[in-house]
Amino acid sequence: MATQTGGPRILLRQLRETMADPLGAQERLNKIVDLIADNMRADVCSFYVLRDDGALELFATHGLKPESVHITTLRLGEGLVGRIAAEAEPLNLTDATTHPSFAYRPETGEDPYRAFLGVPVLRSGQTLGVLVVQNSAYRIYGEEETEAMLTTATLLAEMLSTAEFDSLIKPGSDIDLRRPRLFSAVPFSEGIALGRVYLHDPRVVVTNFIAEDIDEEKARLEQALDSMRVSIEALFQRGDMQTGSDHRDILESYRMFAHDRGWVRRMEEAIEGGLSAEAAVERVQNDTRARMMRQTDPYIRERLHDLDDLANRLLRELTGNGRIGPVDLPVNAIIVARNMGPADLLEYDRHKIRGIVLEEGAAIAHVAIVARSLGLTAVGQADSIVSMCETGDDIIVDAAGGTVHVRPPADVVESYAEKVRLTARRLEQYAALKTRESVTRDGVKVELLHNSGLIADLHAVEDTGAEGVGLFRTELQFMIASKMPRLTEQVELYSEAMDIVGDKPIVFRLLDIGGDKVIPYIRSAPEENPAMGWRSLRLALDRPGLLRTQVRALLQAANGRALKILVPMVTEVREFRQVKIVVRKEAERLARAGGAVPEKIEVGAMIEVPSLLFELDLLLPECDFASIGSNDLIQFLTATDRANPRVASKYDPIDRPRLRAIRHIVNACRDHDVPLTMCGELAGRPIEALALLSVGFTRLSMGASSIGPVKDMILRLDLAPIRKAVAHALDDVDNDRPIRELIAELARQQDLPL
Ligand code: PEP
Ligand code: MG
Repeated sequence: MATQTGGPRILLRQLRETMADPLGAQERLNKIVDLIADNMRADVCSFYVLRDDGALELFATHGLKPESVHITTLRLGEGLVGRIAAEAEPLNLTDATTHPSFAYRPETGEDPYRAFLGVPVLRSGQTLGVLVVQNSAYRIYGEEETEAMLTTATLLAEMLSTAEFDSLIKPGSDIDLRRPRLFSAVPFSEGIALGRVYLHDPRVVVTNFIAEDIDEEKARLEQALDSMRVSIEALFQRGDMQTGSDHRDILESYRMFAHDRGWVRRMEEAIEGGLSAEAAVERVQNDTRARMMRQTDPYIRERLHDLDDLANRLLRELTGNGRIGPVDLPVNAIIVARNMGPADLLEYDRHKIRGIVLEEGAAIAHVAIVARSLGLTAVGQADSIVSMCETGDDIIVDAAGGTVHVRPPADVVESYAEKVRLTARRLEQYAALKTRESVTRDGVKVELLHNSGLIADLHAVEDTGAEGVGLFRTELQFMIASKMPRLTEQVELYSEAMDIVGDKPIVFRLLDIGGDKVIPYIRSAPEENPAMGWRSLRLALDRPGLLRTQVRALLQAANGRALKILVPMVTEVREFRQVKIVVRKEAERLARAGGAVPEKIEVGAMIEVPSLLFELDLLLPECDFASIGSNDLIQFLTATDRANPRVASKYDPIDRPRLRAIRHIVNACRDHDVPLTMCGELAGRPIEALALLSVGFTRLSMGASSIGPVKDMILRLDLAPIRKAVAHALDDVDNDRPIRELIAELARQQDLPL
């Protein structure tokens, strides 16, 4: 049996020197395979790279015929090398020729070789290539040698993503790492955006691979693990996480992994093999990822995210590298993230971003709402996209088609550029409707209003011709502030908002924080179910100072003008009355101080907690107006978390039980003569807007980009027959045809654009 010359530690040192040498890319690869062969006393060492056409191309060899370099290729799954690439697992054989996957390649002169050890070259669990050693004699490669090969493979993976490597790629072909990729996704908005990827949580690039001193590296790892564990415990105390992953069970699994002995031991072993602490974290994460990615069990895939997060945190601890401070966004940036909270999105310079792509998320989660209100093209549930792209990659987000193209080929770019031109033309057509009164063909006037929350998106009211702002989510401005906005700052903000909309009405919704709208400077205890926890009006009534300040600011900002205040998350009439008392007292206080009291103050309730449906006869006589928040109402009616993609769209919001509940509210408001608006996301999608009109709505508030399509539908609509058919269907207990299907058919008969 052959013995090694020097073992893996020496090999790593030599590799480090080679990486630092001023060599060309091919020379460097040649030297690496020579060193490995020499160190391991192997007759052959070869490095194959996976190309974008699925072929594994021989990029360097020691021992096989040099003329086969860049000529010999294997298909993915073909031969031993192809099998390693396909399965992302090492293969260690004493006699390769007897293995069923063995493929004979005469041009390489490989026939006499028997002993074989091959390892995948991985990054983020993705195969980029294969590294192989072979001996003609019978031989068993030991664990140490496998370890040394895996370590070298980690280093080669980094080298593959450098610009230096480009010179080795044949014109007309590319490596798999840069292959165009297509993802399917769930639309969160309209539109198409072409731009460049900006990874919200950038991959930490490891540059220091090799351990100078093993004990020191182990100590560094231990220290990083300790501070990571401390930070996880701190999150437990705080009960929320900046990234928006605010669920306790995620934290529980983080805690479990952070203390997992097996994970820590594998990293320590990698250090003992000669890797630096950060390279060891990356190595182990790569192997784990490759294994877990092949699992279909959603639970395991979910845990993969947790492990990724943890490994990234550890890498940041070790390298001190990560996104801190202002970011350098590429032109037309498209933010790609696993998930993020609305506050994270608001931290970006909105003028530089065009779109957002999430691996998770749901269309009515607040991050999606904020994305729409910023006018971004947004999609979610693009599985595994974060690990398949890099900051700077070209990307196309097609929210209409529910697809994302990463590194798209030229013909795809061209066809999308054409689609963008068509969309622009459609937008021009919508713009032409701006001055037309929004009325159906049979004469029903429908008031179209905006949902908004930022000063920046208020100007759109002018562009779309909306009749006002039906919902101004005041909390968004709080979410972008680093500390609690003071009274004067709030006065300034609200008065600017009123100035921008001018004579048109604007409905200010009182702070609706909590749930997924995390405000860092308002601390709250950890909650099992934040959406049903201490949020919104509950929080405001428990923190009367906060509520009083906001009401005071609104009254002052109005400066005599009419003021509309909307109260979110009312659960009981009693709570609504409490707010009205605060408003009355603040108005009296302002009058006493000689300030200009609004000429008219209207206070309305949001109907979004189902319990209120059974108290409308008590609530409505107290309301100046009402507004349905369908996002929360449907979430609570169906007991489905609006931010959880697995369930968020499980139940059709316009099917019988939900539409009946909504109709009940419409009828009650009509009986009490209380103006009612729909301000949830339902109002902004034409087919759902049509369902709402069919049960009697005449006032809809929606994101700016929805006004055009909804108005276009209204202008062509003959509402009476649809109202009649839907009313009949809602009451017909013998007919279980989905209401959506019925409405779609009626719309087709009228040739409505839905
Ligand atoms: C709603 O719940 O429908 C709503 C409009 O409010 P938000 O989405 O901000 O909770
Ligand atoms: Mg709500």
